[in-house]
Amino acid sequence: MTFNDDADIRGGRVSKRGRNAAIGAGGGGLIVIALLVVSQLTGVDLTGLAPILGGGSGTEQGTDQTGDLAACETGEDANENVECRMVGAATSLDLYWETQVDGYAPPELVLFSGSVSTGCGNATSAVGPFYCPPDQKVYIDTTFFEQLRTQFGASGGNLAQMYIVAHEWGHHIQNIVGTMDGLDLQDAGPTSDGVRLELQADCYAGAWVAASSDTEDTSGIALLQEPTAAEITDALNAANVVGDDYIQENLGDGNVNPETWTHGSSESRQKWFNAGFTEGVGSCDTFAASGSEL
Ligand SMILES: [Zn+2]
Repeated sequence: MTFNDDADIRGGRVSKRGRNAAIGAGGGGLIVIALLVVSQLTGVDLTGLAPILGGGSGTEQGTDQTGDLAACETGEDANENVECRMVGAATSLDLYWETQVDGYAPPELVLFSGSVSTGCGNATSAVGPFYCPPDQKVYIDTTFFEQLRTQFGASGGNLAQMYIVAHEWGHHIQNIVGTMDGLDLQDAGPTSDGVRLELQADCYAGAWVAASSDTEDTSGIALLQEPTAAEITDALNAANVVGDDYIQENLGDGNVNPETWTHGSSESRQKWFNAGFTEGVGSCDTFAASGSEL
């Protein structure tokens, strides 16, 4: 998805954290990749994070570095630079969700490298992008997008990247409107609460993509152009390769075991992204859907 070059993309709450010294640099490539697969399988992406990571100390290490993000000002910057693209996506997502949720409070997007200390405990890039409900922050190491292409075999593209960001924003919406309350997130399987939560986040991402060209800067310039058919295909392709069955078949041991699913099948993830894209947020009640409708 392309930003309008002269749009002002500033506004989203985005910060940057440097590499944590506790993580050794170099030599860990293969381990990181292996862990990435495991974490996708075990659903570290969301609320499972706190128990898996052993709980947070509550103190966050690393100083926020917003310095170089300050250079992200225009749509042209967002088109050329992945970190500026995250800034622009955050701004557009906030503008969209302000129109959908009364009293909307934006999450913070933290761009990190290597590892990061969060309100859900310490995490490394190996867990992939995630949302931490207690601190209401989305954490992304943008090198994940390259892994999505090389490791998962995704076609890539700007909209594929922004679909991931929008999915995590969807978890923030679920958190602030209370969707997460009372769910059994230890349960797994195609019709589990966890899968319904993930599919709804995909649906919310689709709803934003469809409306994103309506989000405007303070001068009335649309932040984003309408997505092309090829870009939508890239986003659906990204949804496909993060489906549980695709991951188990292509990145795991080859055995597809629906009982362990935490995010939903490739087919379901594309279906719900598409539902949001074509019918909007009102179509995203995955909790009311029957098992065969998921
Ligand atoms: Zn998720």
